[in-house]
Amino acid sequence: MKSNNNTQYLYNTITRISELVDLDDKGSSEHFVGLVEEVGEIAQDLQIENGFSCKGHKKPGDGVLIESLDAAICALCVYFSHGGTMEDLPFVMDKKLDKWEDLLKGI
Ligand SMILES: [Mg+2]
Repeated sequence: MKSNNNTQYLYNTITRISELVDLDDKGSSEHFVGLVEEVGEIAQDLQIENGFSCKGHKKPGDGVLIESLDAAICALCVYFSHGGTMEDLPFVMDKKLDKWEDLLKGI
């Protein structure tokens, strides 16, 4: 677990995303399309950063690190716009992370 400041920052950030989704007219399908676009930007920038041009003439985007966060924001927008709540998020997230951790540890 990171410091309390980081924990509080992440909580506030995710809360802010949920509030922005409430102000947004888009539904989960539209947010999902945004997520796919951001994933495409990650793919494009990975290709460029790894020395492979992406179809020859694409300009780099904001870079893999930033595009990854764009995708994370969009994924959370899908979660909230599809009815996910701040209250449920820690339980759902822990369940998913426990599952991934068990897989990595061969449990
Ligand atoms: Mg982007």
